[in-house]
Amino acid sequence: MESVLVSACLRGVPCRFDGRAKDSPAMAGALGDRRPVAFCPEVSAGLSTPRRPAEIVGGDGHDVLDGRARVVDDTGHDVTAEFVDGAERALAAARRAGCTEALLMARSPSCGHGAVYDGTFTGTLRAGDGVTAALLERHGIAVRPAPSA
Ligand code: SF4
Repeated sequence: MESVLVSACLRGVPCRFDGRAKDSPAMAGALGDRRPVAFCPEVSAGLSTPRRPAEIVGGDGHDVLDGRARVVDDTGHDVTAEFVDGAERALAAARRAGCTEALLMARSPSCGHGAVYDGTFTGTLRAGDGVTAALLERHGIAVRPAPSA
């Protein structure tokens, strides 16, 4: 059976920064008969739950991977190393399970695809990908935003 990497918070795991999971009623339809591989990059990198919210400052996940941008939390603490480590762990998990696709949580600085918060902690979005989404795409794994309804 084909496997798909899925943001763990969308599979009922309360691993978001606020200690909650995220409902995704349409996930079952998006998965079809494929096997979900639930994974949280941030928790895998040792970040606690709950944790301070973090955003990418100075670019998106691709810029972080290229050393041009950082991930910081809302106290100014730099968590770039943890976010890159979590992305690498997510890629390893996807490869272990043979995933060629990932269904990831929208807007997250790790899992977001196509749009992420802009680093001002004002709820403003910018075009771009989260760090994990960027790394997965660079290694040939098709990243899709998880269905929101
Ligand atoms: Fe969900 Fe991804 Fe954030 Fe983990 S890193 S809580 S899987 S959006």
